[in-house]
Amino acid sequence: MSGVGPALAAPLLAWYDQGHRDLPWRSRPTPYRVWVSEIMLQQTRVEAVRGYFDRWMQALPDIPSLAAADEGVYMKLWEGLGYYSRVRNLHRAAVEVCAKYGGELPADYDKLLALPGIGEYTAGAIASIAFGLPVPAVDGNVLRVAARLDNEFTPITDAKYKRRVRGQFAALLPEDRPGDLNQALMELGATVCLPNGAPLCGDCPLQHLCLGYHRGNAAVLPLRAAKKARRIEQRTVLLVRCGSLVGIRRRPPRGLLAGLWELPSLEGALPPDAVRQALAARGWRVGELLSLRPAKHIFTHVEWHMTGYYVELDAPPDGLTLVSPAALRADYALPSAFRPFLSVIEEEA
Ligand code: SF4
Repeated sequence: MSGVGPALAAPLLAWYDQGHRDLPWRSRPTPYRVWVSEIMLQQTRVEAVRGYFDRWMQALPDIPSLAAADEGVYMKLWEGLGYYSRVRNLHRAAVEVCAKYGGELPADYDKLLALPGIGEYTAGAIASIAFGLPVPAVDGNVLRVAARLDNEFTPITDAKYKRRVRGQFAALLPEDRPGDLNQALMELGATVCLPNGAPLCGDCPLQHLCLGYHRGNAAVLPLRAAKKARRIEQRTVLLVRCGSLVGIRRRPPRGLLAGLWELPSLEGALPPDAVRQALAARGWRVGELLSLRPAKHIFTHVEWHMTGYYVELDAPPDGLTLVSPAALRADYALPSAFRPFLSVIEEEA
């Protein structure tokens, strides 16, 4: 038994060759397709990404088309995927790639790493899968597999431990198939060596090498440093109607959901009278005010607990942009946190 070492390459590749998930970005792994898929897959499940990936590739089939796209276009294509700095960085990087590299990603790990939004894992995935370079691609899935294989009790969030694992995999990547080995590891982490104490060791091609399995620790590994509790914010979200139109506004250019469109909101969980008062203070002429079902949205570091109201105004309000429900659906990227409050107008769109 050896844990992470050269002996794992052959059985892992043989297992991968016998069949793996059919993912759209695997069928034609051009550098651009690998890049976009890897960015979309950060913090997002494969099943959720499929539809987004296909729509994106139809609308923006190459790097020059992404670089030339208006913000509204790429933000709309990303709507609902969350973590919007990812799509802004994709666009910034596309502009840079057009300026520096003629619209094609460079076949060079360090140059990839220097582009906005591309970290070690993504640079490794593009370099190995699209360009066949022998570079590891170590993400949380691969760290989990490594910790179990090595029966390692250092938390996988530890930067030194990550570096060590990168070094271990760099040393064992086969020259002829580095991208396949990286993908096989990702596939193993996603389909067999599952998170949350549920590895399917009976189906694993590496069981004979796995120290964690043989010492009875597979289900308790990996360790993670304790997470900080999320901050809870109470907000009162308003679905503002003025005639047939809906009121939206831009969020501030920095911070959570920076620069995105949103439904207006007030701080705190306010009762109807307090909402009327706050809106009257802004000079808004409120007609009907109805409670909506409360909703919750979880971000990485904060949770929004939202009280909702449907608010009819008798005159256009200052500070809001009024759009039709159909335009809101088609042309504006609204973060999914606000979706629960849109069901009232969904049939109008
Ligand atoms: Fe993961 Fe179990 Fe395979 Fe070890 S034997 S790598 S714990 S699935």
